Amino acid sequence: MLDRVLVTLDGKVHDAERPFLYADDLAALRGDGVFETVLVRAGRACAIELHLGRLKFSAEAIELPGPDLGVWRSAVERAAAEWGAEQEGMMRLVLSRGRESGGPQTGYVLVGPVTDRVVAARRDGISAMTLTRGHSIELGQSAPWQLLGAKTLSYATNMAAQRFAERCGADDVIFISSEGRVLEGPTATVVMVKGKRMVTPPPKFGILSGTTQRALFEVAGMSGYDCAYAPLFPADLITADGLWLVSSVRLAARVHTLDGLTLPVVADGAEFAALVDRAVVEVGRSRNEV
Ligand code: PLP
Repeated sequence: MLDRVLVTLDGKVHDAERPFLYADDLAALRGDGVFETVLVRAGRACAIELHLGRLKFSAEAIELPGPDLGVWRSAVERAAAEWGAEQEGMMRLVLSRGRESGGPQTGYVLVGPVTDRVVAARRDGISAMTLTRGHSIELGQSAPWQLLGAKTLSYATNMAAQRFAERCGADDVIFISSEGRVLEGPTATVVMVKGKRMVTPPPKFGILSGTTQRALFEVAGMSGYDCAYAPLFPADLITADGLWLVSSVRLAARVHTLDGLTLPVVADGAEFAALVDRAVVEVGRSRNEV
């Protein structure tokens, strides 16, 4: 079974065990690029059109010309086919400004295995802690150069927040703004369920527009849920029927404990997880849809 698959934008499959990037690639030196993380299931890249759309949005935000989505689509299909249908994969689409010394952008698709930790989070849920992100919900609009809605390669602080949570005995993080509004996780979107209502914080609060949450809202909306973008306070999370962190590869991770408090299990977790599963397989498959 393959451990990694690496495909460049010319469609060439590379040996992923060999060195690949130049030492002066701006992804390595500055985190100056954008990326997407995509679930590969049954040999297909899930919700790929939503991911390609966001890749383009993120590239525009950092003034990277292109990307040519047709070329990316082909590389993604090639990588998913190489990976095969036997096991799920975690696919990354990486686009950097290229070498500091000049030349073309760097772009590639890399697929690797889904970790046991991800599988456990889907099955058992997770504990989370709230952490301040140290800025206002206004920052995205007042300081667009902060690139808050773009998925750039600069993820060091997100990873630091997760390590901090681990040191405190929690599995993951929910960021809170300086006014005390719920924002997002370091790698996931917050979705709260209350009765037949699903709520997520609005992207204009300076958070990433999640592909999984968007696909979920489309499917849940057709299954009788009222889906809304609205401000949330930590107290809303504690009194929810179900609190979830949703993202492309981990899919639906139920938050069973928040800041040490065991949350009530009111909403049917299996139903929510099934909606997310369906959503990422059915939504964003074809170009005409988005
Ligand atoms: N928010 C942040 C900061 C993320 O990094 C991610 C995904 O990596 C998400 C939300 C969820 O986005 P998606 O559902 O597209 O994976």
